[in-house]
Formats: sequence, structure tokens, C-alpha cells
Amino acid sequence: MKLRHIFITVVLSGCLLPIFVSAQDRAYPIEGDGIFSFLRRWNRTDTTYVREFIDLNSEKLNAQGGLELGTVYLIPPLHPGDVYPAPETNDQPTDPKIFGEKYKDFTLASDNLEDACFYIISGHGGPDPGAVTRIDGRELHEDEYNYDFSLRLARNLMMHGATVYVIIQDEYDGIRDERFLPNNNGETCLGDPIPKSQIDRLKQRVEKVNDLYARDKDKFRYVRALEVHIDSRNPKEQIDLFLYYADNPQSRMTSYTLRNEVLEQYRKHQPNRGFNGNVSHRDLYILRQLHPPAIMVEVGNFQNTLDRKRIMDPNNRQAIANWITHAFIEDFSHNIPISANTSSKSMSGVK
Ligand SMILES: [Zn+2]
Repeated sequence: MKLRHIFITVVLSGCLLPIFVSAQDRAYPIEGDGIFSFLRRWNRTDTTYVREFIDLNSEKLNAQGGLELGTVYLIPPLHPGDVYPAPETNDQPTDPKIFGEKYKDFTLASDNLEDACFYIISGHGGPDPGAVTRIDGRELHEDEYNYDFSLRLARNLMMHGATVYVIIQDEYDGIRDERFLPNNNGETCLGDPIPKSQIDRLKQRVEKVNDLYARDKDKFRYVRALEVHIDSRNPKEQIDLFLYYADNPQSRMTSYTLRNEVLEQYRKHQPNRGFNGNVSHRDLYILRQLHPPAIMVEVGNFQNTLDRKRIMDPNNRQAIANWITHAFIEDFSHNIPISANTSSKSMSGVK
């Protein structure tokens, strides 16, 4: 009797609950959304969800059968066995699918970064393209290149066992082995649309990272946030790599380690050319407001012919990501947790 009772309860809740819940599951699309991408965000990946979606929302689709920004759509109930949010694979908060078809699969190269956690933030995104440059009659946007660097770096760090959050995400673009990266503005901040106003945009990513950090700071021995940019300066200036640190010793020490390691790689691989890398403190909103030790990297000057040539070369983007990964492994291996108030003084002689 008892068993039968449980059975009935399970069957009933299995049938009725999703229908009940579904009446409330609705959401707005983000810019560039099609039905597929909208559903994928809610982990409705099976194609049968598309038909259900159309049935539920037939009145709200536009003349082409697509989604309209500013219209709220009903999300079809989950099929048995499907869950939202999608379960994390490998305890990783980032689904490797984000790296694209060609790069989504990888095997662990080492466990060197096992107790490390990274927040990788691609500069700009959404309505903000960042720096713009032109070559061969085409317009290049900084945010697309920032994103490619960020994905390559995130994947590398994961391959060495780190826990990695990719804060700015674009579900359409994985790692792209192309010189010309087409522009789009479908990036989100961990799934949320990126606001237009600059201060709201920065605030959004800072708050997301700080919320995660509140949870992560006691779980990991080493946590770093890195925002990736490409600088836009006088076209004559070649800069290679600039690093900016926040006002705390961990951020500063990591910046120096990154610079030194990358400098060494340049010497090894391109011994005939100088390296114009620099490290400095900068009072930037992002660096000031982020709670984890934060670093900002500028990989070259978008307006300089030579820098741009390297930024556009996918092999070179991978090489820089590899060098920065190596540098993080180095930094992590030397990392001794220091308390904020003792270290500031002892470090003042550096630089
Ligand atoms: Zn930028």
C-alpha cells in the first residue's frame, strides 16, 4: 500500500508540477536571439521544444516567425529528465560548449591550478564595441578580439585544473581561428543582457564577480579576476602588453609575475625584437570595485599596425593566452596568502 501511495505521488507530481510551473516561466529575449538560442539559455536544447514554444507563443512572434525585443515569451515546461539550470560538468561553472564546436572538448593537461579560481572578464561587449579600427575596408571591434583572447585563456586555465568563470559570454561565438572577427552584440553578462550606459555596464560585471567571490573566497587558495582589453592609442605606439593592478599587494604581485613571464617568452620566441610591456597601478572603476585581486591586461594597441597584425593572428592570440596561462601557474605556485595590511608596506620598494 505504501509503495503504491509513493508511486501515485510521484506520477502525479511528475505530471502536474511542470504544467503548473510552466504558467509562470516567461522571459524576454536578448538582442540577436532566435527561438533556438532563447530556448538554449533555459536549457531547452531538444528540438521538440521549438514546436512547443511556437504553440505557446504563436501570437507574439513577428511576421518572420522570429522574436521581438521587449516582448515576454512563455518558456515550454521541461521534459522529464531535463533540468534547469543545466548541471555543471566536472564541477566547472563554465560549460565548455562556449568554446565552440572545435574547442569544446579537451583533456586535463595538469592539475597545477587545482586550487585556483579565475573570473575572466572580456572587456566591453553587448552594445559597447570598445575600440574600433579599420583595415582593408573592414571595421574591427575590440570586444570581439577581447572575447577570443578570453576564451582561449579560460580554456587553457581549465585544462590545468582551475575553476574558471567566463563572465562575459557570447553563445554564438566560440574560439575563432580567423583574422577578421565579425562584429555582433549578442554578448551577455552571465546570461543577462549588457546595459547601454557605461557605468551600469561596469557595475553589472563587478556585482556578478563580487557575488561569486563572496562564495568562492574561502573555497580556493588563489582567486584572481582578469579583465582583457586591447588599447587604442596613437598609431605610432607599439605596446605589446600592458598590465594594470588594483590597490592591493596580490593584484600587484600577480601583475609583475605576468609581465616577467611574458617578457621571458618574448625573449625565447622572438629574440630579435624588444618587448614593450609595462606594469602600473591604475585607479580604474573595475579595479577599484572588484573584491578579488584584479588585473587588467591590454594586449597591444589596436591602432598600431604591428600590434594589430599580431592581435588579428589567431596563432598569436593562442600564444599570448598560453604565456599568460603559464604565468598564472607560476604565480599560483609562489603564492603565499598575505594579509592586506602587512604587505602594502613591504612591497612599496617594487617598481
Ligand atoms: Zn577596452
